[in-house]
Amino acid sequence: VWLPLPVEGPYDYLVPEDMTLRAGAVVEVPLGRRFEIGVVWGPGSADLEAKRLKSIVQALPVPAIAVANRRFVDWVSAYTLQPLGAVLRMVINPARRWKPKPAPSAIALTGTSLAALGLAPTLARGKVLAAFSDRSVFETAAALARAAKVSSGVVRDMLDKGALKAVSAQLPQVMGPDPNRAGPRLEPAQAAAAATLTDAVGQGFSVTLLEGVTGSGKTEVYFEAIAAALKRGQQVLVLLPEIALTAQWLERFVRRFRAPPAMWHSDMVGRMRRETRAAVTSGEARVVVGARSALFLPFPDLGLVVVDEEHDSAFKQEDGVIYHARDMAVVRARESGAPVILSSATPSLETVLNTTNQRYRRVHLPSRFGAATLPKIEVLDLRRHKPEKGPWGRAWLAPPLVASVSRALAEGEQTLLFLNRRGYAPLTLCNACGHRLHCPTCSAWLVEHRLSGRLQCHHCGYAARRPESCSSCGATNSFVACGPGIERLAEEAAARWPSARVRMVASDTLDRPSAIAELIDDILKHRLDIVVGTQVLAKGHHFPNLTLVGVVDADLGLSSWDLRAAERTYQLLHQVAGRAGRAGRPGTVLIQTHDPSHPVMQALAAADTESFLAREADSRRLLAMPPFGRLAALIVSGPDEHQVSDVGRRLAQTAPRDDGVEVLGPAPAVMALLRGRHRHRLLLKAGRDIRVQPLLADWLARVKVPGGVRVQVDVDPYSFY
Ligand code: ADP
Ligand code: ZN
Repeated sequence: VWLPLPVEGPYDYLVPEDMTLRAGAVVEVPLGRRFEIGVVWGPGSADLEAKRLKSIVQALPVPAIAVANRRFVDWVSAYTLQPLGAVLRMVINPARRWKPKPAPSAIALTGTSLAALGLAPTLARGKVLAAFSDRSVFETAAALARAAKVSSGVVRDMLDKGALKAVSAQLPQVMGPDPNRAGPRLEPAQAAAAATLTDAVGQGFSVTLLEGVTGSGKTEVYFEAIAAALKRGQQVLVLLPEIALTAQWLERFVRRFRAPPAMWHSDMVGRMRRETRAAVTSGEARVVVGARSALFLPFPDLGLVVVDEEHDSAFKQEDGVIYHARDMAVVRARESGAPVILSSATPSLETVLNTTNQRYRRVHLPSRFGAATLPKIEVLDLRRHKPEKGPWGRAWLAPPLVASVSRALAEGEQTLLFLNRRGYAPLTLCNACGHRLHCPTCSAWLVEHRLSGRLQCHHCGYAARRPESCSSCGATNSFVACGPGIERLAEEAAARWPSARVRMVASDTLDRPSAIAELIDDILKHRLDIVVGTQVLAKGHHFPNLTLVGVVDADLGLSSWDLRAAERTYQLLHQVAGRAGRAGRPGTVLIQTHDPSHPVMQALAAADTESFLAREADSRRLLAMPPFGRLAALIVSGPDEHQVSDVGRRLAQTAPRDDGVEVLGPAPAVMALLRGRHRHRLLLKAGRDIRVQPLLADWLARVKVPGGVRVQVDVDPYSFY
């Protein structure tokens, strides 16, 4: 029996005489003086004395974990070198004691639209519908009213009129998506792509890249493949990079399939989490849309996996079990013999390489749907066009961008000003002595947030008021803000265009799922003229009246040392640019940079993803970097710097010396201090044909690590800090 705990191996138990168990059964077992839930993996080792073994307490009345899921757990554990129990923890509910659940009635959507019921789309009713964006049922009418912030009368009325219905809280009765409803009429290229994808359903494992510019209809096309899998009675998993993306996505899904899918994300807690997991395990949840951890749900009959925005680095889980959800999604599908669709406008180099070497298929949507055209992209040289100071102080918008915003406003069109930096200013320093305010426990500056009146560390969450005087020289009122964050940019926009309606959007201003729905509504209904935002707005949304996008600092992501800095910057800016001009109105994108000749800027201006990727591929091939070589990082951390550097040094001494393997480091990490822990890094670089896991396992076994120090293994690292 494997337990969902970071233990070394499985445990052996006696099976009571009146019990029959198969592999995959979920059981309750004693462990020390506690009880744990675990999964039967297979027969135990024969050399243990029966009288020394404890007995299994009970087999839980839940479906067994299918063999594909168990093999997947084995695989992920072996590939990432994480304890199997830590992986299993994501598969089963690690509750200590099994409690059967009660079955009162709950509230669900009927899926009939307000219009079809002859109901006016009032704000209150809209809020009730929006409350279902992150869950498919509410325990009670009162809970729904509370979540939607409406009176219980509104909910009762919607129940009476058939927009809502009471269901047994046992999920089986909740209506599933209907694959037989007709989708939109597809254009020829879309229809051809959809045919390729639907043909793959039911034909075993395959991977297909669905590539097409933003707005080309990728979502509509892969919906067809979802319908095909549902018609076969199988389950579908859709992975999305961010929860923020799902509000509009969900709405479209419901429009297409009438009922919402089951949702899964890491913030989900308690009963909803348990019930969703149970519904997936029993096969009742037909479609699950979720963040990366949805991958570990124990689907008994997975028929299709879709990874939307496959290039997104949010698919990389960076702590706990470190894994890449896109890569693991391919493995998960292979275990079930199901097809995978990887969808993106700017696919990752890894995926592109897999299509050129024919491991993956590729279907392509060449143009935007309908009359929508791609935006015109211009690169704006900040060295020639210097932002002009105003009465409000420093400025970040160059004159040509200012003129374009004024023009858009005059024409009644909307603008997005994009800057991927939260807060007011990234750095605060003392004007008298130059002292910089930094986090007490991280190697990072404190970021000023004027709205909340605090200085924050974006790495550990530390927050403090701005000090009265400088701790270094004692000067008072000497602190000045350096550089812009979106708060400061919003200040400039409001000062330049006093009559425009300006809103600032960042992950920390969108704390509730309904906040993003409200924001999207405000943009769609044109209650806003200028949106100043970070990348939360860059993805997936369609704003027909938004015709101008200004990228305020295109160089921001390029300055970091990161293998994929150029690739990521290209992907992000391409995506942001894709927000402009969708519904027939031409869009314009102005990209402010200090380095207009940089290949990223050149490729963006020429809208030439292909040659950009070819160039990236060449430079990575030259350095034997991924995807042409393999990397694995070791991160040594601990509160005592001495111990940390000592372990780092010993790791370097015992490093593998095989041919085709190179170990770099140890060196203090860029984030040399994080949450009070000192960090040193080592990087193992190996040829594509070398399996790094046995090397790593061997290596780690050779070095004894003292209690306070932790060595994390990151196979295929995406973060180098
Ligand atoms: P992508 O996922 O490639 O960015 P979407 O699937 O979101 O593109 O499509 C862009 C917009 O065009 C959406 O509003 C979508 O509903 C619409 N659309 C795409 N294809 C069709 C079609 N064949 N018929 C009607 N609307 C479509
Ligand atoms: Zn910190």
